[in-house]
Amino acid sequence: MKIDDKLALNLFHVDSEAHIKVDKEKCRKCPHKVCTRVCPVENYTLEGDELVFAWEGCLECGTCNIACDQGAITWDYPRGGHGICFRF
Ligand code: SF4
Ligand code: SF4
Repeated sequence: MKIDDKLALNLFHVDSEAHIKVDKEKCRKCPHKVCTRVCPVENYTLEGDELVFAWEGCLECGTCNIACDQGAITWDYPRGGHGICFRF
C-alpha cells in the first residue's frame, strides 16, 4: 500500500480553532520559507509572497516547528477530542 493510500485512511476531527499559530509578520521577512517544503501534507503554501497556512490535514508531526528558525510558529496539539486518528 502506498503512503498516500495509508494517509487517506486516517480520520480527522478538525478543530475550528487552529492548534498551530503562525506569525505572518515574521513570515513576510523570512528568507527561505522552508515550511513550504517540509510539511508532509503541504499545509504551508505560498500565494505570491504571502504564506498561507491550513491546519485541517495536520499529522501532528512537529516538523514545521523544528524547521522554522524565525520564531514564527507557536505549536501545540489540537484540543482534546480533536486532531488526527491514525489508522496505519
Ligand atoms: S519558515 Fe517560519 S517564518 Fe518562514 S515562512 Fe515558514 S513559518 Fe514563516
Ligand atoms: S505538524 Fe507536521 S503535518 Fe502539521 S503542519 Fe506541521 S509539518 Fe505539517
